[in-house]
Amino acid sequence: MIQISDKSKCCGCTACVNICPRQCIVMRRDREGFDYPVANPDMCIHCGRCESVCPVLNPASDSKPIAAYAMRSSEYMEGSSSGGVFPALAKSVLDRGGVVFGAVMESDLTVGHVEADTMDQVQRMRGSKYVQSDLYSVFEDIKEYLKSGRKVLFTGTPCQVAGLKGYLGDVAEGLLAVDLACHGVPGPGLWEKYVGALAKRADADVSDVSFRDKSASWRHYSVRYTYASETAGIVTIDAARDPYMALFRQDMTLRPSCYRCPARNGRSHSDLTLADLWSVHRTAPGFNDDRGVSGVLVNTETGDMAMREIEGMEMTELSPADVLAENGGFSETVAVPEKRQEFFDGLQVAGTDIYRHMSEYVVRRPLKTMYKRIRSALSSFKRRISK
Ligand SMILES: Cc1cc2nc3c(=O)[nH]c(=O)nc-3n(C[C@H](O)[C@H](O)[C@H](O)COP(=O)(O)OP(=O)(O)OC[C@H]3O[C@@H](n4cnc5c(N)ncnc54)[C@H](O)[C@@H]3O)c2cc1C
Ligand code: SF4
Ligand code: SF4
Ligand code: SF4
Repeated sequence: MIQISDKSKCCGCTACVNICPRQCIVMRRDREGFDYPVANPDMCIHCGRCESVCPVLNPASDSKPIAAYAMRSSEYMEGSSSGGVFPALAKSVLDRGGVVFGAVMESDLTVGHVEADTMDQVQRMRGSKYVQSDLYSVFEDIKEYLKSGRKVLFTGTPCQVAGLKGYLGDVAEGLLAVDLACHGVPGPGLWEKYVGALAKRADADVSDVSFRDKSASWRHYSVRYTYASETAGIVTIDAARDPYMALFRQDMTLRPSCYRCPARNGRSHSDLTLADLWSVHRTAPGFNDDRGVSGVLVNTETGDMAMREIEGMEMTELSPADVLAENGGFSETVAVPEKRQEFFDGLQVAGTDIYRHMSEYVVRRPLKTMYKRIRSALSSFKRRISK
């Protein structure tokens, strides 16, 4: 029976919850705002199935990509975080009668996985949401579709893909599993608190969020908050200056399992891995106009077939090393920040001003970095107007 004594050993993939024949495992939120499985010993029949599907208890071997590309879709790039490869893949799968699963932000600003049968429904899945998504019971739905012979595209973090694969076992025929380069996720509990703090400051509810507003720059993206009142309006703020995003990027607010990730570096055994191609200036200068470009790793034959089926992409082949370069999201293990415990303890203190507390832990960038950023923003602006 699953029992979590060391939180760094559970990535929250829900495979155990979904496989339990007695449905005796539920996800419960902890003090830091992450969800963990809790099993009811009175209902447990000690079948061991929960342990057998867990990606942390059954670590996968590393796998190496078979090909890599710089890619983008002129049709979808704009509304997507990187090069819009995900919506192009989704269209290809839908055109072949398949169904797509991905993460959306609901109207109450919670993030969760849903299914889509049409490109209109896929629209909401576009854009990175920097909050761990709730998988609800999508693994069960995916299994049913696969059993009925329908193709399924599942996109998620590497640990979600690893959990899905463990849960499906040998019922995976017809699945296209796509993961993202992932340096970690903050929990839904912290996100809920932060949204509440923003609403308090603005005296208006937040009605929509884009974590990756790249209208000014893909490399130096902003976060955009839309408020429900005209007075508060729309606030676009450099991601480095927004406390929630800054702490995410400082690794302060990640799930404990992210500091010893069980699934990155090819261990999710996904078919494709999508990322931002941060090395573009050196590896694919033809795409270097700051509008966004994806680095895509092809990990399996299924992934290779999917790549050949998508249409309307600008692409160039790279070496996997080029895609992996300058991108900590693939394999670098991030260290637990010294002040992480102190930060989360401080959030629990009654009466804490959440916004202020979070701001106090943001490390401000030195002037030299600011200067470099302004220089790079100016040169990408020049590149765009010269096109
Ligand atoms: C938490 C997180 C951390 C990331 N870290 C890195 C990184 O370190 N380096 C890097 O290169 N790229 C990272 N990415 C991936 C990158 O931001 C893009 O999502 C990816 O390149 C796909 O871009 P796109 O333009 O093809 O897709 P888009 O059209 O923007 O679609 C976004 C895709 O991401 C999925 N998604 C969005 N939010 C979540 C979520 N919370 N959980 C699971 N799936 C989600 C959607 O289902 C969809 O498939 C991260 C993404 C997330 C969600
Ligand atoms: S051992 Fe079996 S019954 Fe018990 S919690 Fe795990 S899956 Fe459920
Ligand atoms: S990693 Fe996944 S399968 Fe393992 S205990 Fe956590 S939620 Fe369950
Ligand atoms: S870093 Fe690893 S454990 Fe954390 S969300 Fe990403 S894939 Fe999951």
